[in-house]
Amino acid sequence: MAKVMSVNCGSSSFKFKLYEMPEEKVICNGIVERIGHDDAIFTIKYNGEKITNIVPVADHGVAVQIVIDKMLEMKIIKSIDEIKATGHRIVQGGAYFDRSVPFDEDAYKKIESLIPLAPLHNKAHLTGFDAFKKVLPNTPAVAVFDTAFHQTMAPEDYVFPIPYEYTEKYMIRRYGAHGTSHKYLSEVGAKYIDKEDKKMIICHLGSGASITAVRNGKCVATSMGLTPLGGIEMNSRTGDMDPSVFYQVASCTGKDVETIFQEFNKKSGLYGVSGVSNDSRDVSAKAAEGDYRSQLALDLWGRRVADFIGQYFVRLGGCDLIIFSAGIGENDSGSRKLALTRIQEALGIEIDWKVNDETFGGKEAVLSTPNSKIKVVVIPTDEEVMIARDAYNICLK
Ligand code: ADP
Repeated sequence: MAKVMSVNCGSSSFKFKLYEMPEEKVICNGIVERIGHDDAIFTIKYNGEKITNIVPVADHGVAVQIVIDKMLEMKIIKSIDEIKATGHRIVQGGAYFDRSVPFDEDAYKKIESLIPLAPLHNKAHLTGFDAFKKVLPNTPAVAVFDTAFHQTMAPEDYVFPIPYEYTEKYMIRRYGAHGTSHKYLSEVGAKYIDKEDKKMIICHLGSGASITAVRNGKCVATSMGLTPLGGIEMNSRTGDMDPSVFYQVASCTGKDVETIFQEFNKKSGLYGVSGVSNDSRDVSAKAAEGDYRSQLALDLWGRRVADFIGQYFVRLGGCDLIIFSAGIGENDSGSRKLALTRIQEALGIEIDWKVNDETFGGKEAVLSTPNSKIKVVVIPTDEEVMIARDAYNICLK
């Protein structure tokens, strides 16, 4: 038995989950938010109890120290040596990493070299790793990449039709995201397909959302692109559009590239079209009151999800299983319905709408009827356990 920590460092937050491995038992989890502020929020959940403290947290080093000190104080660990390995989520692994690796100097340099592709994320991951190195200097670490699972894509699926020198010189291509989630879901989903050649379409629909075509456990195509801005419409992101929209918005408004990029990431999607909120629940509530723009935002969303499923059905030459997961996919029967009603006729899908309505809150369920040509399921995702598994397997096995 060994304690292993799954770590997710963002620019101003640090999420953690401590596991007993290899049992995969969650011991405690929590988050430090608003790092860099005097009123940072530290929350830890242990033994059914949730403790929240407002504390000054100058940087990630302080955040990690606070978490470790609290674990010692609460006797979750007796000494820091009890944490045998850490696994760090890394958003962008470029073409360097098709799997998790020991977080050594070589990995560090490569992650650093990829900062231009994910400026906020990769920088924050390295800051977080440095903080752990200081607080837990003897604990081995692994890097787990959101992009690794998608490295099996063929060039026709990842090269953008731009001047090829940009692809070569600046590494501009499709990398995808949520790979750790898609890998987890493809492994859990495999049990629903009773044949050798397994074809599935995985819909990770959270505030960020991506759809992936997977054949025999390998990613064939994925909807997110160079960055998480690509693919389907999201809570606040545009998803795919005619690239000239960028040009036209710039020339109409006089706004600079950075401002428009931020707007397309944070003020678009369901939020942009509805003008209501970047939470799909608020948009659905407004639509239910008859608000035209909220309903339009949801219809656009359903259309995009359906179109990607249709596209991937062709890409895979058929499909055995469609998986819905993440915040919206696991909880929001209405949103699932928006997508399913748009694909059911073409794909011969039959849904038990009562089961759909009753599936939320972390339940795994089969939504399709036995007559359906494609099985449709909801599977709650678990990226953290994948990170802990890789940390355990690489460092301790
Ligand atoms: P991320 O990890 O990308 O922030 P999540 O997978 O946690 O996203 O999904 C968060 C989103 O899921 C919320 O913004 C909301 O749109 C949706 N969501 C979460 N819980 C529910 C729920 N109970 N019912 C409907 N939608 C939900």
